[in-house]
Amino acid sequence: MSTPRPLDTYTWPPSNEELAARVGLRADQILRFDGNTPAAPPPSARPAALAMALADVNEYDRGRYQALRQAIAAYHDVGLNQISLGAGSDEFIVLVAALFAENGTIATVPADSYSMYHYAAGMAGAKLIDDPASADLVYVCRPNNPTGELCCIPDVGGQLVIDEAYAQYAGVDEIARVRDGAIILRTFSKAFGLAGARVGYAVASPEITEILNSRQAPLSVSSLSAVLALAALTSPLDVSAQVTERERVARELHALGLTPLASFTNFLFVPMESPQALVDRMLPYGVMLRAYARGLRISIRDEIDDDILLGALRTELLGDPLETAPLRYRRATAETLLNIRLRVPGEGRVYVNTGEGFYDHMLTQLAFHGGMDLRLEGVGDSETGDHHTVEDMMRAFGEALDQALGDRKGLARYGESRVPMDEAIAHAVVDLSGRAKATLNISPDPGMAAHAFESLAQTARITLHVTASGENAHHVAEAAFKAVGRAMNQALVRDGSLVRSTKGSL
Ligand code: PMP
Repeated sequence: MSTPRPLDTYTWPPSNEELAARVGLRADQILRFDGNTPAAPPPSARPAALAMALADVNEYDRGRYQALRQAIAAYHDVGLNQISLGAGSDEFIVLVAALFAENGTIATVPADSYSMYHYAAGMAGAKLIDDPASADLVYVCRPNNPTGELCCIPDVGGQLVIDEAYAQYAGVDEIARVRDGAIILRTFSKAFGLAGARVGYAVASPEITEILNSRQAPLSVSSLSAVLALAALTSPLDVSAQVTERERVARELHALGLTPLASFTNFLFVPMESPQALVDRMLPYGVMLRAYARGLRISIRDEIDDDILLGALRTELLGDPLETAPLRYRRATAETLLNIRLRVPGEGRVYVNTGEGFYDHMLTQLAFHGGMDLRLEGVGDSETGDHHTVEDMMRAFGEALDQALGDRKGLARYGESRVPMDEAIAHAVVDLSGRAKATLNISPDPGMAAHAFESLAQTARITLHVTASGENAHHVAEAAFKAVGRAMNQALVRDGSLVRSTKGSL
């Protein structure tokens, strides 16, 4: 029996647990800026969507996820017989090397590109060469990882593979080239936010697709992942916020004296000498970056996470005082999955999106007037009405607030506010004492307002008095949420002394 030859292999980065242990943090304090993945799952990744797949999880999908393949074909306007599915596009990177360049030659464009091409070449016994015109196989990474640039597509003599893992960020696609024999690789790991689901695909001519399929394991994608991919594909994809955020981070890095290259992706590459030294200096802040031979690669997450990175860099490079990181909190139930980042006090930067438009807006008002930074994203089970989601959203927010308040020492503790909204008026008084009690008179209630405040008072352990009345229920609720926010804003002021209590303790 022959022993397989040893290979140079992909080095998987350390886990959050391992990194945290190195610097004395908790695993949930580590933020990954080294994976080019977005900060949160897409709104389409709903627990309820998985329920149907679970009902059949004992079976193989005999149609090999035809609905997903059909949706991908429609998305690119190609035939169903032009799509192959795989467990991530890495599966195809390895497969095409073995298929088209076994013991042959491979070139990558640009030369400094995704490390997996190099390992795939090794597995296929192929040699990496510089000249794309004479290689058996050419990987074009467009836009390129790790530099973020958008390169030209060279003339090739062998098989052309265009890896479009980040194409959505650049707004480009080279699908038309499948007519000339090119293979296009795509993934659900980046813009679609499903890296953990492991779904990628190849778009190619029907002939090449048949060859690819004949060399794959029969069904490498799980049915749960296929459901998530289909849901993501059939929901609108908007990367504009990520692109705007990337440009903001680039400007902030320039202000720090760093010089990121222009990027067409969801990451920035900063050329520098000894980038590993900076990676090591950032880890104690919970910030994990990626070092390459020629520079540092920084994934873009979102405003709150990226500010943690920028704050750590400012402290490390300029000696600025360090801001406290926002609290991260996650609540997952059978009905809802909620992701929260919360900083109190903050700057009123609020984004709430659970799909419950009206109450998303209400909580946004509360947090904004409360002077908090809040990012609450998630999805609920709206099929059974808004009840679960609104209650879970308010409970999760309350639980996060309870944690963020810590031992509550030094807070102003009391706050009061009166807010009109057209014909409606609301009066709110809060006490952050730690005693959970809601006394509410909201009339008319649009449905869930009183229940929302009740859930908040219980979980945040606050005393809340709210009286609100008017003609229009939406106005009444909006006035009430704003009033509670403004009352909290007063109560959250830290005056440096202990919480005032006549009993000496709370
Ligand atoms: N291609 C490129 C250029 C990448 O950066 C990555 C992920 N790092 C992949 C392919 C693989 O993605 P996945 O296997 O998650 O689909």
